Amino acid sequence: MKKIVLCCICCAISICCFCWGFYGHQRINYYAVFLLPPEMMVLYKPNIQFITDHAVDPDKRRYAVAAEAPKHFIDIDFYGSYPYRQLPRKYDEAVEKYTEDTVIARGIVPWWIQIMEQRLTSAFKEKNRAKILKLSAEIGHYIADSHVPLHASSNHDGQLSNQKGIHGFWESRIPELLAEKEFDFMIGKATYIDNIPNYVWQRVLESSAASDTVLKDEAVLTKQFPVDKKYAFEERNGKMLRQYSSQFTIAYNKMLNGMIERRMRLSISSVASFWYTAWVNAGQPDLKTLQNVAFTEEDLKEFETLNDAWKNSVLKGREHE
Ligand SMILES: [Zn+2]
Repeated sequence: MKKIVLCCICCAISICCFCWGFYGHQRINYYAVFLLPPEMMVLYKPNIQFITDHAVDPDKRRYAVAAEAPKHFIDIDFYGSYPYRQLPRKYDEAVEKYTEDTVIARGIVPWWIQIMEQRLTSAFKEKNRAKILKLSAEIGHYIADSHVPLHASSNHDGQLSNQKGIHGFWESRIPELLAEKEFDFMIGKATYIDNIPNYVWQRVLESSAASDTVLKDEAVLTKQFPVDKKYAFEERNGKMLRQYSSQFTIAYNKMLNGMIERRMRLSISSVASFWYTAWVNAGQPDLKTLQNVAFTEEDLKEFETLNDAWKNSVLKGREHE
């Protein structure tokens, strides 16, 4: 009986990972810290564990708050064809054209990143340490999501093309299996972003353009693999799970010709650059002397609530969409 319960929990965990997966998001925030200039490193390096752990808070919040989900994606193909010029890049104009309900339902990640960047800039101006750390960890999540091809496609889990599961396969299974061993995370330095809206839309358009390849290549490879070779019971986090086999995972990653590594590296560089840009725009405050060193009661309570909501969902085996 114990084994059956344990197995259910493991299966639930495997379907509850989305976006870059917890592993990917945490690695992206972690590596981004090393791209910062020394004036910022004095704050970020001693708090690297917090920045890493809390990279996944926005995903945990999806279980607790209904309005959270649209902040992680945009079904940009809903708005015509690439490069989707009919979609106004300004939020108010997009709402004017399509109504707010529609814009929210189709996902708002490009606009939400810009709001988070403004909040982070204000936190730097206030020299509010708790806010800087919390917002840095969270904006890292949304930026990384905007680099994932299937976060810019309405066929986000291959549900329209009989490829269900491809979402977690691309962004969780592959990085978990290959990132440590094969990906190169030596990435230059954070750079100042002159035009934030433009930068965000460029990344989203790249993601959208790559989403066709993500789906097409998986379909082609599936035809070459018998089902018992495509999936296998293999170990994940010390547990045996039915998942895409290592053989299939390696072959698919090869077929994508480094795409996942490139998007992960660019995510890291983008996250560091958004942190750096917010700090510069706030007037480069001295981060050695900050206010609000401790988190508020409210912050601590929120961290706890998010963890509880996530744990409960895992135990119920609830899917996120
Ligand atoms: Zn997400």
